[in-house]
Amino acid sequence: MIAETLLNISFVSILGVKIANISRCDAIKLMEQLIQQEPGSTRTIFIVNAHTLNLAVENPEYRDVLNCANKVFPDGTGVRCAARLRGTILKNNLVGTDLIPEFLSATSNRDYRYFLLGADAATIARAAQVATERFPGWQLVGYHHGYFTTEETDSIIEQINSAQPHLLLVGMGNPKQECWLHAHQHRLQVPLGIGVGGLFDHWGSNLKRAPLWVRKLGCEWIQLLLQQPHKWGRYIIGNPKYIIRIIFSLN
Ligand code: UDP
Repeated sequence: MIAETLLNISFVSILGVKIANISRCDAIKLMEQLIQQEPGSTRTIFIVNAHTLNLAVENPEYRDVLNCANKVFPDGTGVRCAARLRGTILKNNLVGTDLIPEFLSATSNRDYRYFLLGADAATIARAAQVATERFPGWQLVGYHHGYFTTEETDSIIEQINSAQPHLLLVGMGNPKQECWLHAHQHRLQVPLGIGVGGLFDHWGSNLKRAPLWVRKLGCEWIQLLLQQPHKWGRYIIGNPKYIIRIIFSLN
């Protein structure tokens, strides 16, 4: 049984998604508690930003998938501002690009195993190499790219299960990664699955992190937009849409 009561977690609902207000330190403790569960049905953690919440408004089924997670963590200025307007000051920004490396470093040398799923074949191979070097205290037991067909799903699940990871990181973007984990969590024999978005692109060097001062200003999205101009609609149209939705959903 998880001793979640020992952790300080409250919740704030933003655009119908129940988001955990939890410190970085408690988030790491919770993640370790979850990976110590008997593998049976995979517990999930999803990390949502303004774009994820826009998708959830536009697709109620996706919103329900998010709400089925064991926990939903907040990522970014958009979520922080929305929470504040609802009277909640979020303890931490739990962007996966920072949280996952911190978690792997904080829980090293405990015989934990992990598996990476997502990104294109070349990127995930590079990401796997970088992760192996950067996190020697965790055993990387396998990886697979995220561009597979429905017919290939069974064999990928078999590959993951036979590698017996404690942690499955899935980086296939929103909403695919959350929907995939939700659809297959009962067949995956992995204690914890986390949706990590573009993490493997960072590890595989496709994307550069913004400098710390830009991240602190809450402007990392500008750096991402400059590197991925095809995502302009998400930011130039999506951000104003998100602001309007946040204001009009206040009551
Ligand atoms: N991706 C994937 N399979 C897909 C679509 C995307 O593995 O069918 C990967 C993509 O290569 C990238 C990651 O998912 O490494 C995040 O994709 P994207 O940046 O489009 O999504 P975001 O998380 O920003 O919404």
